[in-house]
Amino acid sequence: MTELPNFVVTGASGRMGQMLIRTIAESGRARLSAAVERQGHDWIGRDIGECMGGAATGVIVTDDPLEAFATARAVLDFTAPKASVEFAALAAQARAVHVIGTTGLEPEHLEKFAAAARHAVIIRAGNFSLGVNLLVQMTKRVAQALDEEFDIEVIEAHHHHKVDAPSGTALMLGEAAAEGRGVSLRQMSDRGRDGITGARQPGHIGFSAIRGGDIVGEHDVMFAGQGERVILRHVATDRAIFARGAVKAALWGLDRAPGEYDMADVLGF
Ligand code: NAD
Repeated sequence: MTELPNFVVTGASGRMGQMLIRTIAESGRARLSAAVERQGHDWIGRDIGECMGGAATGVIVTDDPLEAFATARAVLDFTAPKASVEFAALAAQARAVHVIGTTGLEPEHLEKFAAAARHAVIIRAGNFSLGVNLLVQMTKRVAQALDEEFDIEVIEAHHHHKVDAPSGTALMLGEAAAEGRGVSLRQMSDRGRDGITGARQPGHIGFSAIRGGDIVGEHDVMFAGQGERVILRHVATDRAIFARGAVKAALWGLDRAPGEYDMADVLGF
Protein backbone atom coordinates (compact mmCIF):
# COMPACT_ATOMS: atom_id res chain seq x y z
CA MET A 1 0.00 0.00 0.00
CA THR A 2 1.32 3.48 -0.83
CA GLU A 3 1.84 5.82 2.11
CA LEU A 4 -0.56 8.69 2.57
CA PRO A 5 1.00 12.17 2.19
CA ASN A 6 1.78 14.07 5.41
CA PHE A 7 -0.39 17.16 5.92
CA VAL A 8 0.20 19.76 8.65
CA VAL A 9 -2.54 22.04 10.02
CA THR A 10 -1.56 25.43 11.47
CA GLY A 11 -3.88 27.29 13.83
CA ALA A 12 -4.99 23.81 14.91
CA SER A 13 -7.30 24.99 17.71
CA GLY A 14 -9.14 27.52 15.50
CA ARG A 15 -12.62 27.12 14.00
CA MET A 16 -11.11 26.22 10.62
CA GLY A 17 -8.08 24.39 12.09
CA GLN A 18 -10.28 21.84 13.86
CA MET A 19 -12.49 21.45 10.79
CA LEU A 20 -9.40 20.81 8.62
CA ILE A 21 -8.14 18.15 11.04
CA ARG A 22 -11.49 16.30 10.92
CA THR A 23 -11.67 16.63 7.13
CA ILE A 24 -8.14 15.23 6.61
CA ALA A 25 -9.06 12.20 8.77
CA GLU A 26 -12.35 11.68 6.90
CA SER A 27 -10.72 12.02 3.46
CA GLY A 28 -8.65 8.83 3.83
CA ARG A 29 -6.26 10.42 1.29
CA ALA A 30 -3.78 12.13 3.63
CA ARG A 31 -2.59 11.81 7.23
CA LEU A 32 -2.20 14.55 9.82
CA SER A 33 1.51 14.56 10.65
CA ALA A 34 1.59 17.69 12.83
CA ALA A 35 -0.67 20.33 14.38
CA VAL A 36 0.79 23.80 14.97
CA GLU A 37 -0.44 26.52 17.33
CA ARG A 38 1.00 29.86 18.42
CA GLN A 39 3.51 30.03 21.27
CA GLY A 40 1.94 30.01 24.71
CA HIS A 41 -1.31 28.36 23.56
CA ASP A 42 -2.93 25.97 26.11
CA TRP A 43 -2.93 23.08 23.64
CA ILE A 44 0.89 22.99 23.10
CA GLY A 45 2.32 19.65 24.27
CA ARG A 46 -1.09 17.93 24.33
CA ASP A 47 -2.56 15.33 21.94
CA ILE A 48 -4.66 17.07 19.26
CA GLY A 49 -7.37 14.38 19.31
CA GLU A 50 -7.85 14.77 23.07
CA CYS A 51 -7.80 18.58 22.82
CA MET A 52 -10.68 18.30 20.33
CA GLY A 53 -12.62 16.12 22.75
CA GLY A 54 -11.96 12.76 21.04
CA ALA A 55 -9.51 9.85 21.21
CA ALA A 56 -5.73 10.29 21.25
CA THR A 57 -4.15 10.45 17.77
CA GLY A 58 -0.45 10.46 18.68
CA VAL A 59 -0.07 13.95 17.15
CA ILE A 60 1.14 16.38 19.81
CA VAL A 61 0.36 20.08 19.23
CA THR A 62 3.60 22.00 18.66
CA ASP A 63 4.69 25.66 18.43
CA ASP A 64 7.68 24.75 16.22
CA PRO A 65 6.54 25.08 12.56
CA LEU A 66 10.08 24.50 11.21
CA GLU A 67 10.21 20.98 12.66
CA ALA A 68 6.54 20.30 11.82
CA PHE A 69 6.98 21.24 8.15
CA ALA A 70 10.24 19.26 7.64
CA THR A 71 8.41 16.03 6.65
CA ALA A 72 5.22 17.67 5.33
CA ARG A 73 3.92 17.40 1.76
CA ALA A 74 1.33 20.13 2.45
CA VAL A 75 0.59 22.81 5.05
CA LEU A 76 -3.04 23.86 5.49
CA ASP A 77 -3.06 27.34 6.95
CA PHE A 78 -6.12 29.33 8.07
CA THR A 79 -4.57 31.62 10.70
CA ALA A 80 -3.59 35.32 10.56
CA PRO A 81 -1.68 37.39 7.95
CA LYS A 82 1.60 37.70 9.90
CA ALA A 83 1.62 33.98 10.73
CA SER A 84 0.85 32.98 7.12
CA VAL A 85 3.81 35.04 5.85
CA GLU A 86 6.12 33.22 8.28
CA PHE A 87 4.65 29.85 7.29
CA ALA A 88 5.07 30.63 3.55
CA ALA A 89 8.84 31.00 3.94
CA LEU A 90 9.12 27.81 6.02
CA ALA A 91 6.83 25.78 3.73
CA ALA A 92 8.87 26.91 0.69
CA GLN A 93 12.07 25.81 2.45
CA ALA A 94 10.49 22.38 3.04
CA ARG A 95 9.12 22.34 -0.57
CA ALA A 96 5.67 21.68 0.89
CA VAL A 97 2.45 22.81 -0.79
CA HIS A 98 1.12 25.82 1.18
CA VAL A 99 -2.67 26.15 1.13
CA ILE A 100 -3.55 29.60 2.47
CA GLY A 101 -7.10 30.43 3.57
CA THR A 102 -6.13 33.36 5.79
CA THR A 103 -7.90 36.61 4.87
CA GLY A 104 -7.30 40.28 5.70
CA LEU A 105 -4.09 40.21 3.61
CA GLU A 106 -2.38 43.42 2.48
CA PRO A 107 -0.13 43.93 -0.57
CA GLU A 108 3.00 43.55 1.63
CA HIS A 109 1.85 40.02 2.61
CA LEU A 110 1.10 39.11 -1.02
CA GLU A 111 4.65 40.13 -2.04
CA LYS A 112 6.08 37.66 0.48
CA PHE A 113 3.84 34.88 -0.88
CA ALA A 114 5.02 35.64 -4.44
CA ALA A 115 8.65 35.29 -3.28
CA ALA A 116 7.93 31.94 -1.57
CA ALA A 117 6.06 30.69 -4.66
CA ARG A 118 9.31 30.77 -6.66
CA HIS A 119 10.34 27.63 -4.74
CA ALA A 120 7.08 25.89 -3.87
CA VAL A 121 3.38 25.64 -4.67
CA ILE A 122 1.09 28.18 -3.00
CA ILE A 123 -2.67 27.84 -3.38
CA ARG A 124 -4.51 30.81 -1.94
CA ALA A 125 -8.22 31.65 -1.98
CA GLY A 126 -10.43 34.01 -0.03
CA ASN A 127 -12.96 31.19 -0.17
CA PHE A 128 -12.35 27.47 -0.82
CA SER A 129 -15.98 26.44 -1.44
CA LEU A 130 -17.16 25.17 -4.82
CA GLY A 131 -20.31 27.35 -4.68
CA VAL A 132 -18.50 30.63 -4.10
CA ASN A 133 -15.98 29.92 -6.82
CA LEU A 134 -18.92 29.35 -9.20
CA LEU A 135 -20.43 32.63 -7.96
CA VAL A 136 -17.16 34.39 -8.82
CA GLN A 137 -17.40 33.15 -12.43
CA MET A 138 -21.07 34.18 -12.65
CA THR A 139 -20.32 37.63 -11.20
CA LYS A 140 -17.69 38.22 -13.87
CA ARG A 141 -20.15 37.22 -16.61
CA VAL A 142 -23.05 39.35 -15.32
CA ALA A 143 -20.76 42.36 -14.79
CA GLN A 144 -19.60 41.97 -18.39
CA ALA A 145 -23.20 41.89 -19.64
CA LEU A 146 -24.55 44.86 -17.61
CA ASP A 147 -23.13 48.35 -17.99
CA GLU A 148 -22.75 51.22 -15.48
CA GLU A 149 -26.54 51.73 -15.48
CA PHE A 150 -26.44 48.88 -12.97
CA ASP A 151 -24.79 49.74 -9.63
CA ILE A 152 -22.82 46.80 -8.21
CA GLU A 153 -23.03 46.22 -4.44
CA VAL A 154 -21.41 43.31 -2.57
CA ILE A 155 -23.17 42.56 0.73
CA GLU A 156 -21.70 40.03 3.14
CA ALA A 157 -22.61 38.64 6.58
CA HIS A 158 -20.40 36.72 9.04
CA HIS A 159 -20.26 35.62 12.71
CA HIS A 160 -19.34 38.14 15.40
CA HIS A 161 -15.77 36.79 15.90
CA LYS A 162 -14.63 37.78 12.40
CA VAL A 163 -11.83 40.37 12.60
CA ASP A 164 -11.56 41.68 9.01
CA ALA A 165 -13.98 43.43 6.65
CA PRO A 166 -14.91 43.25 3.85
CA SER A 167 -14.49 39.46 3.90
CA GLY A 168 -11.90 37.83 1.64
CA THR A 169 -14.82 36.41 -0.34
CA ALA A 170 -16.45 39.82 -0.78
CA LEU A 171 -13.15 41.11 -2.16
CA MET A 172 -12.91 38.11 -4.55
CA LEU A 173 -16.41 38.95 -5.79
CA GLY A 174 -15.52 42.66 -6.09
CA GLU A 175 -12.42 41.73 -8.12
CA ALA A 176 -14.54 39.50 -10.38
CA ALA A 177 -17.05 42.32 -10.94
CA ALA A 178 -14.25 44.79 -11.68
CA GLU A 179 -12.64 42.34 -14.10
CA GLY A 180 -15.97 41.82 -15.88
CA ARG A 181 -16.34 45.60 -16.23
CA GLY A 182 -12.72 46.04 -17.28
CA VAL A 183 -11.89 48.40 -14.39
CA SER A 184 -9.52 48.33 -11.41
CA LEU A 185 -11.21 47.49 -8.09
CA ARG A 186 -8.65 49.58 -6.25
CA GLN A 187 -9.85 52.70 -8.09
CA MET A 188 -13.57 51.88 -8.09
CA SER A 189 -14.17 50.36 -4.66
CA ASP A 190 -16.55 52.17 -2.29
CA ARG A 191 -16.16 51.01 1.33
CA GLY A 192 -17.33 52.11 4.76
CA ARG A 193 -20.12 54.61 4.00
CA ASP A 194 -21.11 56.71 7.02
CA GLY A 195 -22.57 60.20 7.41
CA ILE A 196 -23.04 62.66 4.53
CA THR A 197 -21.31 60.65 1.85
CA GLY A 198 -22.80 62.37 -1.19
CA ALA A 199 -24.56 60.52 -3.98
CA ARG A 200 -23.25 57.19 -5.18
CA GLN A 201 -20.65 57.51 -7.95
CA PRO A 202 -21.54 55.70 -11.18
CA GLY A 203 -19.32 52.67 -11.80
CA HIS A 204 -18.28 52.26 -8.17
CA ILE A 205 -18.38 48.80 -6.58
CA GLY A 206 -19.84 49.10 -3.07
CA PHE A 207 -19.21 46.85 -0.05
CA SER A 208 -21.34 46.37 3.08
CA ALA A 209 -20.56 44.05 6.01
CA ILE A 210 -22.96 42.57 8.57
CA ARG A 211 -21.48 40.92 11.71
CA GLY A 212 -23.57 38.84 14.09
CA GLY A 213 -24.10 35.58 15.97
CA ASP A 214 -22.89 32.38 14.36
CA ILE A 215 -23.40 33.26 10.66
CA VAL A 216 -20.92 31.05 8.74
CA GLY A 217 -20.83 33.27 5.64
CA GLU A 218 -23.37 34.84 3.26
CA HIS A 219 -22.61 36.85 0.11
CA ASP A 220 -24.89 38.74 -2.26
CA VAL A 221 -23.73 40.49 -5.42
CA MET A 222 -26.44 42.97 -6.34
CA PHE A 223 -26.72 44.64 -9.75
CA ALA A 224 -29.19 47.46 -9.07
CA GLY A 225 -30.66 49.12 -12.16
CA GLN A 226 -33.67 51.38 -12.84
CA GLY A 227 -36.79 49.32 -12.23
CA GLU A 228 -35.00 45.98 -11.74
CA ARG A 229 -32.30 44.22 -9.71
CA VAL A 230 -30.30 41.07 -10.33
CA ILE A 231 -28.97 39.41 -7.15
CA LEU A 232 -26.50 36.51 -7.11
CA ARG A 233 -26.32 34.82 -3.68
CA HIS A 234 -24.27 32.20 -1.86
CA VAL A 235 -25.09 30.99 1.65
CA ALA A 236 -22.64 28.81 3.58
CA THR A 237 -24.20 26.84 6.43
CA ASP A 238 -21.24 24.59 7.29
CA ARG A 239 -17.49 25.38 7.53
CA ALA A 240 -16.78 21.88 6.22
CA ILE A 241 -17.19 23.24 2.65
CA PHE A 242 -14.04 25.36 3.08
CA ALA A 243 -12.08 22.51 4.69
CA ARG A 244 -13.06 20.03 1.95
CA GLY A 245 -11.99 22.56 -0.70
CA ALA A 246 -8.66 23.16 1.07
CA VAL A 247 -7.89 19.42 1.32
CA LYS A 248 -8.82 18.97 -2.35
CA ALA A 249 -6.50 21.89 -3.23
CA ALA A 250 -3.60 20.41 -1.20
CA LEU A 251 -3.96 17.02 -2.96
CA TRP A 252 -4.15 18.76 -6.36
CA GLY A 253 -1.03 20.79 -5.54
CA LEU A 254 1.20 17.79 -4.78
CA ASP A 255 2.17 17.27 -8.45
CA ARG A 256 2.35 20.91 -9.58
CA ALA A 257 5.33 23.06 -10.50
CA PRO A 258 6.19 25.90 -8.05
CA GLY A 259 3.97 28.96 -8.45
CA GLU A 260 0.85 30.69 -7.19
CA TYR A 261 -2.51 29.07 -7.83
CA ASP A 262 -6.10 29.66 -6.76
CA MET A 263 -9.29 27.63 -6.46
CA ALA A 264 -10.26 28.36 -10.08
CA ASP A 265 -7.09 26.44 -11.10
CA VAL A 266 -7.94 23.55 -8.76
CA LEU A 267 -11.53 23.33 -10.05
CA GLY A 268 -10.43 23.71 -13.67
CA PHE A 269 -12.54 26.83 -14.36
P1 NAD B 1 -9.86 31.39 14.53
O1 NAD B 1 -9.53 32.63 15.29
O2 NAD B 1 -10.89 30.45 15.09
O3 NAD B 1 -8.50 30.53 14.30
C1 NAD B 1 -7.26 31.09 13.99
C2 NAD B 1 -6.21 30.23 14.67
O4 NAD B 1 -4.89 30.62 14.23
C3 NAD B 1 -6.22 30.40 16.22
O5 NAD B 1 -6.29 29.12 16.81
C4 NAD B 1 -4.88 31.09 16.50
O6 NAD B 1 -4.33 30.71 17.77
C5 NAD B 1 -4.03 30.56 15.33
N1 NAD B 1 -2.81 31.34 15.12
C6 NAD B 1 -2.69 32.69 15.03
N2 NAD B 1 -1.37 33.02 14.89
C7 NAD B 1 -0.68 31.85 14.86
C8 NAD B 1 0.71 31.52 14.76
N3 NAD B 1 1.65 32.47 14.64
N4 NAD B 1 1.06 30.21 14.78
C9 NAD B 1 0.13 29.25 14.89
N5 NAD B 1 -1.20 29.49 15.03
C10 NAD B 1 -1.59 30.78 15.00
O7 NAD B 1 -10.28 31.86 13.08
P2 NAD B 1 -11.03 31.03 11.91
O8 NAD B 1 -12.47 31.36 11.92
O9 NAD B 1 -10.58 29.60 11.95
O10 NAD B 1 -10.42 31.75 10.61
C11 NAD B 1 -9.01 31.78 10.38
C12 NAD B 1 -8.74 32.54 9.08
O11 NAD B 1 -9.30 31.83 7.97
C13 NAD B 1 -9.39 33.95 9.03
O12 NAD B 1 -8.50 34.81 8.32
C14 NAD B 1 -10.67 33.71 8.24
O13 NAD B 1 -11.16 34.86 7.62
C15 NAD B 1 -10.17 32.69 7.25
N6 NAD B 1 -11.21 31.86 6.61
C16 NAD B 1 -11.02 31.61 5.28
C17 NAD B 1 -11.90 30.79 4.61
C18 NAD B 1 -11.61 30.47 3.16
O14 NAD B 1 -12.34 29.66 2.55
N7 NAD B 1 -10.55 31.05 2.58
C19 NAD B 1 -13.00 30.22 5.26
C20 NAD B 1 -13.15 30.47 6.64
C21 NAD B 1 -12.23 31.30 7.29
